[in-house]
Amino acid sequence: MMLGLLLARAGVDVVVLEKHADFLRDFRGDTVHPSTLQVIHELGLLEQFLALPHDAVQVLRAVIGGKETVLADFSRIRAHSPFIAMMPQWEFLDFLRDEAERYPGFRLIQNAEVTDIVEDAEKGLVTGVLAQTPEGQLQVSAALVIGADGRRSEVRKAAGLKVRDLGAPIDVLWLRLPMAPTDPPGTGGRIGRGLFLAMINRGSYWQCAYVIPKGGMQALQLRGLDAFKADLLKVAPLFADRVHLLASWDDIKLLSVTVDRLERWYRPGLLCIGDAAHAMSPIGGVGINLAIQDAVAAANILARALADPAVTAYALTQLLAQVQERRLFATRVTQAVQVAIQNRVLSPVLASAAGQDTSPLPVPWPLRVINRFPALQALPAYAVGIGIRPEHVASPRV
Ligand SMILES: Cc1cc2nc3c(=O)[nH]c(=O)nc-3n(C[C@H](O)[C@H](O)[C@H](O)COP(=O)(O)OP(=O)(O)OC[C@H]3O[C@@H](n4cnc5c(N)ncnc54)[C@H](O)[C@@H]3O)c2cc1C
Repeated sequence: MMLGLLLARAGVDVVVLEKHADFLRDFRGDTVHPSTLQVIHELGLLEQFLALPHDAVQVLRAVIGGKETVLADFSRIRAHSPFIAMMPQWEFLDFLRDEAERYPGFRLIQNAEVTDIVEDAEKGLVTGVLAQTPEGQLQVSAALVIGADGRRSEVRKAAGLKVRDLGAPIDVLWLRLPMAPTDPPGTGGRIGRGLFLAMINRGSYWQCAYVIPKGGMQALQLRGLDAFKADLLKVAPLFADRVHLLASWDDIKLLSVTVDRLERWYRPGLLCIGDAAHAMSPIGGVGINLAIQDAVAAANILARALADPAVTAYALTQLLAQVQERRLFATRVTQAVQVAIQNRVLSPVLASAAGQDTSPLPVPWPLRVINRFPALQALPAYAVGIGIRPEHVASPRV
């Protein structure tokens, strides 16, 4: 949607195909980071964006072994908007759609599920896609197809692009519980032996992510819902008065976590960005922000060429390679950090319930250091909030 907006703004005809009828899904995360807020600011839209309901998180905290600990302080970084705007992603997508629709070249078709790509075999060129709609099959022809269809991308599969699996030892259970006036207000985490819970403040309710070992859902269900609720209360006792609202496993959604990356993000006539090019773990809440950075880089590199009717497929392919080159390093480093945290922090925390030790989980030493010297809280804030090689909007507005 962001790339659609940027290209339409640059005078390119864009069709965005979305398989669902709306954007009302919980699972995509709410974290609009300072890097994305900077992009919105550069588009001149920040004031309107921040007028939408959101929770501005300046300091990210976790309760580890019962002890409150600061993970990152965004107010300490040099950024136009030094905070995370927590906003349900459907609000963000609706906002981008409304803005994009102001440009005559933009068109969004919902209920249109891409099922295949269309190729000119002789030229080795992707020339469009096929999509299934309630009215039947739709074929869209285009100078460039962009696969921004997430970690189960149909486009990358149809294009036969090679995927490298980087491994994810965790899955996430997604659930919601109402908020009480006495609750501490902040979005943050709660970590205990064998337990890891992230809580997102959505105004009237908590959107919660409960981390389990990969493939652990069946074992959890065999232990029963009451045992699950007892574990939840160990790490979040504030839910004692409302955990009964989780009436069945239907109230708890399993989200399988994947971390992978395409070896090559493009083919002549086709480019993948976001999770379709590199599926991100939820760690750090960076996935949507990295996808936005890809969109900005792609628009910066491609917009002028796409607006030029005389551009050749060969010239365009050279530019697609530049997009991958531009974004690969940031993606590689971010995924390496996510995989390290998954393997060295989350897996040991989840396994720690099995041992004899029942003492409260100790706060890891790097966190003890940044809590002792608060100026250092800027470091994780910068890594998460801005990241590597932040992109700035350089595509034209026509
Ligand atoms: C459990 C979990 C929690 C996460 N939490 C966070 C978080 O808090 N913050 C964060 O930044 N990241 C988070 N992430 C990562 C984040 O969800 C992704 O990195 C991010 O959504 C990628 O954006 P995207 O636009 O590339 O893909 P997506 O957000 O997956 O969007 C893809 C879009 O394409 C549509 N689509 C899919 N297939 C087709 C098709 N065949 N035809 C047409 N349309 C199609 C989908 O409906 C969807 O709208 C989390 C990931 C997981 C697994």
